[in-house]
Amino acid sequence: MLNKELSHFSESSKSGNQISEYICSTFLDKQQEFDLPSLRIDENEIAAQQAQQRSRSPRGVGGPPMSQISGVKRPLSHTNSFTGERLPTFGVETPHENALGTYLGEIDTWGIDIFKIGDLSLSRPLTCVAFTVFQSRDLLNALMIPPKTFITFMATLEDHYVKDNPFHNSLHAADVAQSTNVLLNTPALEGVFTPLEVGGALFAACIHDVDHPGLTNQFLINSSSELALMYNDESVLENHHLAVAFKLLQNAGCDIFCNIQKKQRQTLRKMVIDIVLSTDMSKHMSLLADLKTMVETKKVAGSGVLLLDNYTDRIQVLENLVHCADLSNPTKPLPLYKRWISLLMEEFFQQGDKEREMGLDISPMCDRHNATIEKSQVGFIDYIVHPLWETWADLVHPDAQDILDTLEENRDYYQSMIPPSPPTGDDEGDDRIRFQVTLEESDNEGDQDDKDDGKPSESQSHSHPTGM
Ligand code: AMP
Ligand code: ZN
Repeated sequence: MLNKELSHFSESSKSGNQISEYICSTFLDKQQEFDLPSLRIDENEIAAQQAQQRSRSPRGVGGPPMSQISGVKRPLSHTNSFTGERLPTFGVETPHENALGTYLGEIDTWGIDIFKIGDLSLSRPLTCVAFTVFQSRDLLNALMIPPKTFITFMATLEDHYVKDNPFHNSLHAADVAQSTNVLLNTPALEGVFTPLEVGGALFAACIHDVDHPGLTNQFLINSSSELALMYNDESVLENHHLAVAFKLLQNAGCDIFCNIQKKQRQTLRKMVIDIVLSTDMSKHMSLLADLKTMVETKKVAGSGVLLLDNYTDRIQVLENLVHCADLSNPTKPLPLYKRWISLLMEEFFQQGDKEREMGLDISPMCDRHNATIEKSQVGFIDYIVHPLWETWADLVHPDAQDILDTLEENRDYYQSMIPPSPPTGDDEGDDRIRFQVTLEESDNEGDQDDKDDGKPSESQSHSHPTGM
């Protein structure tokens, strides 16, 4: 981490380079040295260097210049700002306020009808869910967020979710935020997190897919997209979501964290970055491996709640919590789960159509002419979702038992829906899902055993062939 900061430092200016080398070789373990004013980068020097670069390299490789964050719309003064005295009760203007209130009354319930909330809020589910959750948790007071600023920011954020994406739109963000809210209520975590941490986790959930283009990281990398170039192929989308969201906070009237202390703001920013980067599915295995270790060494306080006494443990729980919320559609009542699947599959298929047109290999699960939805859901649950939720349920035992039960019922439903394959007389007709085993660079790599007997074992690490 320190090295990363230092290399960024060294790229920023020539003098920064010298300072970083000096710091590296002399003070590597003393991070507080960064606070010395003498180590600050000379901004004039950076500006001069940037001017030099501009005069040297003409733009025109397509897309925005690297210093600009793509996808951030120019703020329009008349939208998302409330001029009247009265703020809408649920943060959104709608003729269906009463009915919306009834559905939002279930904000602490797993399996709330988020689709209905999307309709009743006139496609502003994120704004009304976020406003309701922050209000019901008294976070607007605790973090000194002016309600009007909160609504203005959330509405602007919501506008930056791509409406045309079948799955990665603001309804998914609202769903993840609401699910995060419920998971934060789990009795095993009662009183564990500070308002700043709770606010950070909820904020991370709200922003976690903003300006998602409806294409996977792998597609963006394979097609040498601007975003992949910008983030050097590493957690391309997740880095982008963060950059867009933090940029939006800088819009006039949007800075919901304007009243908290600088130190708290820095902590919040770090937490949000950690949590959103953990939503990169390629980090799933290492996240899960760490969660398992935490369960094995679980400490509880006298009152029965988890004892998390350092940043690493606290953020790890929040990362896994939001990751669980992001992977929660298979744990929801079946009619909701089915709707999420068809939306996600449509988004995958649209990517597949694009790949076909571009003459690229069609990504797994993205070929609309060759899809096996039931089987892939069983595989997705067996290898990814169930191991994660089972471990979460162990951590907060017995709080998540109902969620795990629903997941298992849904899994059995899809298992029963798999069309029988014609007998072939050999192993080919075997209905078990065979997964390509690709071990993630996780700390526990050495412990993992890669036998593929058609079932995930306790310590086995599989990654889904879609690269999810
Ligand atoms: P995110 O892209 O951050 O929303 O992470 C969720 C990802 O998990 C999706 O992009 C999919 O790759 C995967 N996923 C979520 N739900 C399902 C599902 N029901 N079936 C298959 N993959 C899923
Ligand atoms: Zn997501």
